[in-house]
Amino acid sequence: MSTLFLSPPSFDGFDGGAGSRYQARREITSFWYPTWLAQPAALVPDSRLLDCPPHNIGIQQCLETAKAFDHVIIHTSTPSLKNDSKVAEAIKANRPETRIGFVGAHAAVLPTETLKASPAIDWVGRKEFDFTCKEVAEGRPLETIDGLSFRKDGKIVHNREREMIKNMDALPWVADVYQRDLQIEKYFIGYLLHPYVSMYTGRGCPAQCTFCLWPQTIGGHKYRVRSAQNVADEMAYMKKLFPQVKEFFFDDDTFTANLPRAREIAKKLGPLGLTWSCNSRANIDYDTIKSFKDCGLRLFLVGYESGNADILTRIKKGVTMDEMRKFTQACHQAGVVIHGTFILGLPVETQQSIENTINFAKELDVFSLQVSLAAPYPGTELFEMARQNGWFVKKDKTDLVENDGFQQSALEYPGLSKEEIFEAVDRFYRAYYLRPKPILRIIKTMLEDKDVCVRRLREGYEFFKSLRQRKEDLEAAKSAAAVAAPAPA
Ligand code: SF4
Repeated sequence: MSTLFLSPPSFDGFDGGAGSRYQARREITSFWYPTWLAQPAALVPDSRLLDCPPHNIGIQQCLETAKAFDHVIIHTSTPSLKNDSKVAEAIKANRPETRIGFVGAHAAVLPTETLKASPAIDWVGRKEFDFTCKEVAEGRPLETIDGLSFRKDGKIVHNREREMIKNMDALPWVADVYQRDLQIEKYFIGYLLHPYVSMYTGRGCPAQCTFCLWPQTIGGHKYRVRSAQNVADEMAYMKKLFPQVKEFFFDDDTFTANLPRAREIAKKLGPLGLTWSCNSRANIDYDTIKSFKDCGLRLFLVGYESGNADILTRIKKGVTMDEMRKFTQACHQAGVVIHGTFILGLPVETQQSIENTINFAKELDVFSLQVSLAAPYPGTELFEMARQNGWFVKKDKTDLVENDGFQQSALEYPGLSKEEIFEAVDRFYRAYYLRPKPILRIIKTMLEDKDVCVRRLREGYEFFKSLRQRKEDLEAAKSAAAVAAPAPA
């Protein structure tokens, strides 16, 4: 069967493709690579990957393309399921014989609900879906395929679980799919050089953070890895394939979770002369950081999450604030840039803990940061905790983004409303960035490179526009709440 792997068009600027951990529209243009779809696409000869949002592909063009395929596999997510179901229905309306499958974290943990989202969805891939997609694309009968749920005689049938992949080297490289189907210049991440390419060298994370999507839904808590040589070979290949790329990003949940292997890879990358970056926890020592830096590491993406010790314990972060301080200091000393990520609205946030976090971020003083709202995805411990404690604001617990694609505050706590959490994001950004140090740092990078200068000006414009937009979202939410509230007697 000819097969199309599809990230459908969605909210304007929605970074919800098959590689995004938080499916939402960002403050500045950001698009992750759809690696989770590129991987099965690499297993299916003559398939095609269509990643609509970054390529500005609208619904008409998407439907036209889909018409040429017998089989369409859509990567969906909690916030985009409704939209993706409509796209599936439109594909079926155009060509009723098209077989449509849904994959992704939401489908992995809620296969029944996902199938029920629309009669246009023929099957759902649970857990790790690479080989499930391959077998469906080969035309095997659905009832014989592990890890798959489908409809049979009006009933939903769940086939037995698929085993997790043990030999990660058995997965083909994604490089050729990227080159064939993606225009890599369309992919931006604010803190990465442009153009960048991201890929995975392994899946799963041994840490237990309660809010974290991939390890609790698809990847698991064992870090399963490709061999260092396999990774180095693909990097050498990518370097030839994409000579224009300025930075390679290892998007593994925690690339540094297996340090001996990370060191081995770094050693092999050094002679290739690549600039690379990766996700890391804030718990590595100076010597290791310095050795990575000497082998081309430019940036760590680090989840600090909170500056309140109780919250860090409650979300099982597994790294203390002192360890975070030490790590950050070591990175500053070694000259490794950090993009830090923080989350507001984790249990149990208070005005005081928000101030703690803002102050902690200022103390760490990393190059750049991102502030997200806690997103309780189905399948995560945070979701269960919120459900049991009645922290969800809305009845629909999957309503995680506004109509414009920006995140909304899905949780609130006794003494801290969702509006207060939402407002604190704006306050956090302003308190952090409107200080002399970050401003001077940004100006310095602009003076060093004309392209960076143009990009930062655009991002600055987008950033302040998004803050305005978020304010409007908040006002709209307040008005809606006022209308819904009963009139005083
Ligand atoms: S360390 Fe990072 S990737 Fe691992 S579980 Fe925690 S948040 Fe997720």
